[in-house]
Order: sequence, then C-alpha cells, then structure tokens
Amino acid sequence: MPSNVNANRLQGQIAIVTGSSSGIGKAVALAMAAEGASIVVNYPGGTPDAANQVADEIKSAGRKAIVIQADVSNEDDVKKMFAKTIETYGTVDILVNNAGLQKDAAFVDMTLAQWKLVLDVNLTGQFLCAREAAREFLRRGIVPVKSKAAGKIICMSSVHEVIPWAGHCNYAASKGGVMLLMKSMAQELAPHKIRVNSIGPGAIKTPINRSAWETPEAEKELLKLIPYGRVGEPSDIGLVAVWLASDESDYVTGTTLFVDGGMTLYPGFATGG
Ligand code: NAD
Repeated sequence: MPSNVNANRLQGQIAIVTGSSSGIGKAVALAMAAEGASIVVNYPGGTPDAANQVADEIKSAGRKAIVIQADVSNEDDVKKMFAKTIETYGTVDILVNNAGLQKDAAFVDMTLAQWKLVLDVNLTGQFLCAREAAREFLRRGIVPVKSKAAGKIICMSSVHEVIPWAGHCNYAASKGGVMLLMKSMAQELAPHKIRVNSIGPGAIKTPINRSAWETPEAEKELLKLIPYGRVGEPSDIGLVAVWLASDESDYVTGTTLFVDGGMTLYPGFATGG
C-alpha cells in the first residue's frame, strides 16, 4: 500500500475499479484504499488469484475489499457487479473505468474480431459501467459527510486519445471515443453534481506494454518519446486517480489529465520542426 499519501481523503466511500487485478487498476485500488475507500476489485474471468491478492493486501492494511468477476463488455455482468456492490456496501461513490486491452495489427490485416474486441472492452465497457454508476449516483444524491459531489467517474484513457498510433487503429479509436464519451457524460451529468474526468497515461510499466520497456534497448527507444526521462510507474496514476476522486478536485469535470512525462508535448519538435 502506498504510504506517501494524506490518509482518508476518500474516507467512507465505495470505489469500483474495473480490471484491478493488475497494472494501473491495481495501483489505483491500493491508492484509493490507502485513502479510506472500500474497494471492489474487478477481474474479467479466469483464475481469481491475482484479484484475491489485491483484496488481501487491502484488507491486511485494515481497509475493506471484495472481489467481483465481471466482463465489462457484458451488460448482464456489469449490472450484476453493481447489484452485488450495492448489496455488500450499500452504494457506490466512485467508478474507475480502467479495464482495457490491445489487439494490435497492421491496419490492412486487422480482423473484424480484433476491432470489435478492443472497442467492446475499451469503449462499450466504459459506457456500460458509467451508466450503472450514474444511475446509482442519481438515485442516492449527495451525501455531504462523504463528498461534495453525488459521484465521480474516472475514465482510464490514454495519450492515444489525441496521438494517432499506427498499428493500433482499434486501440486509438477506442480511446478517442472515450474522450468524447467522457466529455459528453460530464456535460450531461454536471447539473446533477456528478463529476466525470479521464486520466491519459503515457507509457506506464504494466503487462499491457511489457515489450516496450522490458529490455534496456526497448526502454532507451521508448525514452525518446518521454521528455521527463523516465517510464511511468502504476503508482503515478494511482495518486492522480485519488486526487480526481477527492473533493480537492471538486471544480474539475470534463477534463483529461495527461500523466505522461510530457509525451503529448511532441518531443520530436524539441530539436526539429
Ligand atoms: P493491464 O493489462 O495490466 O490491465 C488491464 C486490466 O484490464 C487487466 O487486469 C485485465 O484483466 C482487465 N480487463 C481486460 N479485459 C477486461 C474485461 N473485458 N472486463 C474486465 N476487465 C478486463 O494493463 P494496464 O496498463 O494496467 O491497463 C489499464 C488501463 O490503462 C487500460 O485501459 C489501458 O488502455 C490504459 N493505459 C495503459 C497505459 C500503459 O502504458 N500501461 C497507457 C495508457 C493507457
């Protein structure tokens, strides 16, 4: 559990973090738990071992966690995940739409199955989870002892919501879609005091992009794209997610916060152009 945080900024709040058995989602779950939130650790299927380990780490630090299996692209699974969460904890205060995947291919070789899987999980999954969260936030309204907002939705986007990515058209399209889904939800839900924002990670060391940082040669190539000179860690995102979920960011809605060491600053132009 991270120790460099102000304790209890999310005291008493319930957070669903999709895809939180690994990588960024795990770091967000641990960071939010360290701030007092009770966590739903979601995983899509297969063995629950990794999800259970995250929940055990949270519980051993004295916070609450449950594990729920749900494929975020499956409407029934998502509805059941929210029902189980509400049955267990009473409500939901924070949704972190983190689950995502890549199925890379050259554009002309990309199959419809590869296209659909990435759009289904990365974009439709965020829609399905956000819709259930917003319904619960609207039903419950603001609980002043917990937060100034009636609820917070954080979408895990990417620098590729704005940076085109050859060989990854499905992924870039999904994250571009997340950008306008997030902004449109934020516009529609702001009068109800529901805040919706995105985090746009740059390169973060997780299983999704292992080949890009695993060897010293690969990391050296990657660093050419990162003016700040280091590859990100999952905890870099966890700390920002806590801030976006807390009342410290109460006037922030409809924004993507890029956490990318400057990857979106067009580093190639530092010496050319
Ligand atoms: P990761 O592979 O460790 O995590 C992705 C998680 O999503 C996994 O736990 C996986 O089980 C889960 N998942 C996949 N399909 C799912 C489904 N249908 N239902 C529920 N869960 C599902 O990789 P990560 O880097 O931690 O990725 C997390 C998010 O961050 C993704 O949305 C990814 O696009 C985004 N992101 C990552 C980076 C990076 O550099 N690592 C950069 C930008 C954006």
